[in-house]
Amino acid sequence: MKTSSDLQILLRNIDRRGYPAYKDTKGSYGFGNYMLSIDHVQGDPFASPSKVSIHIEGKTAGFPEEYYKTKERRVALQDYLLRLFRSEVDKYNFKAKGSGKSGLMSVSRPGQEVLERTACEIDPKSGKLAVRLEVGFPANGRTICSSELIKILFDFLPKCVQDVLFYRKLNGSEVEKIIFLADDREYIRNRLEEMGLVAFVANGSVLPRESGVSDRPMKNSVLFRSPESMEVEMDLPHKGRVKGMGIRKGITLIVGGGYHGKSTLLKALELGVYNHIAGDGREYVVTVSDAVKIRAEDGRCVKNDDISMFVNNLPNGKETKSFYTEDASGSTSQAANVIEAMESGTSLLLIDEDTCATNFMVRDELMQRVVHREKEPITPFIERARYLYEKKGISCIVVAGSSGSYFSIADWIVQMDNYVPMEITSLAKAEAEKYPPLSVPEKEPDEPDYRRAPRAGKGGRDNGGHMQRNMGRGGRGGHGDNRDNRVKIKSMGKEGVSLNKENVNLHYVEQIADSEQVTALGYLLAYAENHMFNGKDSMQEIVGKLMKLMEQKGLASVVPGDYLPSGLALPRKQEIFACFNRYRAMNL
Ligand code: ADP
Ligand code: MG
Repeated sequence: MKTSSDLQILLRNIDRRGYPAYKDTKGSYGFGNYMLSIDHVQGDPFASPSKVSIHIEGKTAGFPEEYYKTKERRVALQDYLLRLFRSEVDKYNFKAKGSGKSGLMSVSRPGQEVLERTACEIDPKSGKLAVRLEVGFPANGRTICSSELIKILFDFLPKCVQDVLFYRKLNGSEVEKIIFLADDREYIRNRLEEMGLVAFVANGSVLPRESGVSDRPMKNSVLFRSPESMEVEMDLPHKGRVKGMGIRKGITLIVGGGYHGKSTLLKALELGVYNHIAGDGREYVVTVSDAVKIRAEDGRCVKNDDISMFVNNLPNGKETKSFYTEDASGSTSQAANVIEAMESGTSLLLIDEDTCATNFMVRDELMQRVVHREKEPITPFIERARYLYEKKGISCIVVAGSSGSYFSIADWIVQMDNYVPMEITSLAKAEAEKYPPLSVPEKEPDEPDYRRAPRAGKGGRDNGGHMQRNMGRGGRGGHGDNRDNRVKIKSMGKEGVSLNKENVNLHYVEQIADSEQVTALGYLLAYAENHMFNGKDSMQEIVGKLMKLMEQKGLASVVPGDYLPSGLALPRKQEIFACFNRYRAMNL
């Protein structure tokens, strides 16, 4: 392997030359106790910055083996190191000067969630550590200014690496805390199933956030406290005894006046599928990891979903066992969201009336009398919720402040009162007795058909009479096999990702926690389109294979090219389904 002095000599030689001469620096260099790898060199000072990675042998990094052998611990440790490294690197950002992105040093910026990221990875077998970042190689105009790059690679970066990427340099008890928190979280998650729960919210948790634009905990908030009747106790391996609200399997209804904290509780449950960093306030809020938030999403595309469980006999005669639209209504979009969540294997649906289509959720008694069941294409969720739980084992937590209809079908009813939950099941049930009972359809719905199999090539079909929104982009005819994997992926924060200029709108996929998950989703979709859409394998099989691939070989297995970019975070299986389902060019 080349050494750091080789690199330094090379850099001095190319000083003041044209920018492309930087390309020669690509390669790996020994820097004593670590290896610096220049994975990709940018084309000019204004282009997307160069990709650089740091590699440290397991023995040299020195982290105790038991800290990275299990996935939960490893992900927590990776996340911790990344945060430390980032705050070090921030001190030197743009300290080296020049035009364009010269001197930029950029590392992933994790939020409150602890995710698996390409920015920092520890090999579970060898303990080898890899940290990936972006560096703007400095220039004046388009003339190489290598003395500035020498500052970065030989002064700034080594300081950051030496200070935080070796175990002996860190505060051992701080690292231990991170590992212990991961253990406790995993313990709670494992206990959920045994205890018959779908979620746990520890007493003392801080659920509200600082503001609509800050994910940090709200200061001086009302701390969470479980109603006595729902309180469960867990004996965590490190923290010891913790009490909190155990939400049981079945149908749980959250009611309460406006502004009393219903949506805040539900939001915390939505994100309880992820782990949160120490100090977040939601460290011990844990939801089953396959939970899916369901909402209305007017305008989304639906491709070959069997929504007949909820929608039938549409006035335009449109088939709902294999439903297509480029522009779904509130209720059909929400029906598709439920069916797709079921397809992804969810065991818990999370629903907030604030973001629902009313006609999908309920149909009141008076309306049933006036407009007969046969005249209404929609079977509302309330008439299917019991079936979903009894027959499919899918629980739901529904926030409903304005309609009492759900009282009759709920197993548990919780009222939020000034941010404090109270359990009011028997009281509400007694009141509900006085009203006519809910009538449910006599016939059980057919099992949804999940056999849809994406084909290669572009789709964008609509077999109904709807206006085809976005048809200009989504409606091209089949182009045959597209094996070119030089796809152009561009993510727009958490809003969506574009694949060869085809936008996938993820704005309403609310459990995406980080823009890096969106970028990863783009790569996954591109990979699936190029290698897996064969017209035979169903969506379930394809996503299953992708999950397995990533488990065995990591994200690297779906990213083309000879290096792994920083800036990718692992999404859940549920979001992979969600992303694929919103791809208008999908030929399905
Ligand atoms: P709802 O859905 O019942 O109308 P929200 O959950 O939207 O109510 O909460 C209303 C407001 O109260 C929000 O601004 C939220 O940040 C704040 N809030 C929620 N929970 C708490 C709490 N535990 N302590 C203090 N403020 C809270
Ligand atoms: Mg609300």
